[in-house]
Amino acid sequence: MSPRPTCAPSKGARAGLGERPACYSAFMQWTIILEATTGWGERTCTPVYTFSRPTLDLKPEQVGLTLAEAKTLLAGLQAQLIRQQADEYATCRRVCPRCHQMQPVKEYQPRVLDTLFGPVHLDSPRWQVCRCRCRWDHPPTFEGFC
Ligand SMILES: [Zn+2]
Repeated sequence: MSPRPTCAPSKGARAGLGERPACYSAFMQWTIILEATTGWGERTCTPVYTFSRPTLDLKPEQVGLTLAEAKTLLAGLQAQLIRQQADEYATCRRVCPRCHQMQPVKEYQPRVLDTLFGPVHLDSPRWQVCRCRCRWDHPPTFEGFC
């Protein structure tokens, strides 16, 4: 898992008007972060897209996002969102309704979801039925998210 970024302001970023510290960059950088909170209250922050622009030598076409950047951003956002949804779905479905233990994963199958912002590749788990349940009652394996 990647480290969780924080949104706290950096210390000593501005020395004051008219002064530029030695580490001053002529570019400003943005990172778009997807923050998710599961039903368990677990929170994750995942960087989705990073871009930069010149601070002073700015051309009109460098104001805001370009169409290509917006498409890349949305595709990355969609992919990350779907992967998190699939992970949470699989985690919740793996819990045995009878004994509340996690059922063992049998294998992961590569899947592709075609979305509005392009295909999203993910590994969908298949798991075995918990040993506490009768075999004749349930199929031997369950499919995951898709
Ligand atoms: Zn069970």
